[in-house]
Amino acid sequence: MKIISVLFLLATAVATCHGQDSVENGLEYQILPLRLKSGSGGQHIQGITCSSWRLAVETHNIINWKTVPQECEGYIGNYILGDQYRGDSKAVNREAYFYVRDLNLTKDGKNIWVFDIDETSLSNLPYYAENGFGSTPYNDTAFNEWVNLGMAPVLPETKKLYKKLLSFGIKIVFLTGRPESQRAITTKNLNDAGYYQWEKLILKDKEQYKGKTAVTYKSTERKKLEQQGYRIIGNIGDQWSDILGYSTGDRTFKLPDPLYYIA
Ligand SMILES: [Mg+2]
Repeated sequence: MKIISVLFLLATAVATCHGQDSVENGLEYQILPLRLKSGSGGQHIQGITCSSWRLAVETHNIINWKTVPQECEGYIGNYILGDQYRGDSKAVNREAYFYVRDLNLTKDGKNIWVFDIDETSLSNLPYYAENGFGSTPYNDTAFNEWVNLGMAPVLPETKKLYKKLLSFGIKIVFLTGRPESQRAITTKNLNDAGYYQWEKLILKDKEQYKGKTAVTYKSTERKKLEQQGYRIIGNIGDQWSDILGYSTGDRTFKLPDPLYYIA
């Protein structure tokens, strides 16, 4: 009888514990607690959760991180495959739509919107799902093999914005860190994903921008667009390097991406 009572007490304690955890995190599943031995910047971080890590990453407080903390692989996987990522993406794209809807634009064909490609227009989630959701070091060979398949699916909320912008007479410029050598496969992938129309598709000249940051590359190319007489009404990307620097556009929009960091 005593043993049964002890077992009952233990079961109750465990159930209560799990219940509290769920309520505290506001989620149905239990978030993996973050037990970082070293933070993404190499510093020791005690007692923060993976959701706090994600917020710090998205707000650009944690920068130059190399990989998702090992302890957060499950959390990031749940986030990115679940409704929250889609919802976050929707919130950003919808706000961009509200902004542009209320503008009184000059209809001279010079209004453009800059779109990044990876994790903005197209998703590399099938690749990252097979590679630890960003918790393993970046592998250039493996990633380019994936890109060269041309099978990256569309990010649906971004495509909705793309279509709205076209309907407002705004021209689309894709500006990507992908190299010139991937122009053909990128064009095919964009078409397959439902992006049929654009003013320019700017890919990176690897020689010209050798050793330069993404901020420098993208700023330089946006500046060229302005020099050609275009007005950058908006600019959307998943990396801070898409929207920092100069010639950033009248408004910038940052999509979620807790998978990797590009300076
Ligand atoms: Mg990107």
